[in-house]
This record gives sequence, structure tokens and C-alpha cells, in this order.
Amino acid sequence: MSGQKRTSTLKKRKSPQRTCVICRKVQDKRDLIRIVRTSDARVQIDITGKQNGRGAYICRQRDTCQGQLTRESINHALRTSISDDDWKDLQDQLMNP
Ligand SMILES: [Zn+2]
Repeated sequence: MSGQKRTSTLKKRKSPQRTCVICRKVQDKRDLIRIVRTSDARVQIDITGKQNGRGAYICRQRDTCQGQLTRESINHALRTSISDDDWKDLQDQLMNP
């Protein structure tokens, strides 16, 4: 009898991978922090990961992330020019989560 019905597999679905803008490591999206450029040209951390706009990703595990986040890397990844205020906020939030 060949009526084999596939029960919903518990296999892990491949989750999306993104590249960290600091160390260039490709990681599971869940292991990265998303930084988003909003429609009004602000740059901020996207806590939900669902905000509209161009995103850049950095490792959540900062101790394994080699390198430093620079303004240039954010500007480059988001094709923008981050304002002084946003850059400061971003650093504050990343240093003191
Ligand atoms: Zn990294």
C-alpha cells in the first residue's frame, strides 16, 4: 500500500542568512541585529526585524564578532549618510543593550 502521507515534518526549515557588516560572517538572521534605514532617512535598530527599509545586520554575539562597527560600514550597507545623532544613539544602544 502506497498511500504514504507525509506528516508535517519537524525538520528545521532553512532560515534566512545574512552577512554581518562588521566581520562579514554569514549567519542565521536570528543571530543578527538588524539596523534599518527608515523611510524618513533615520537609521535605527530594528527590534522587530520587520521594519520597512533597507537593512544591515550585525552579530548579536559581539564577543565572536571580530572588528568594529564604523560609520562607513553603516553608510555603505544602508547607502545613506547616518546623522550624528543616529550614529550616537546606535552606538549607545549597541553598547548598552
Ligand atoms: Zn559579526
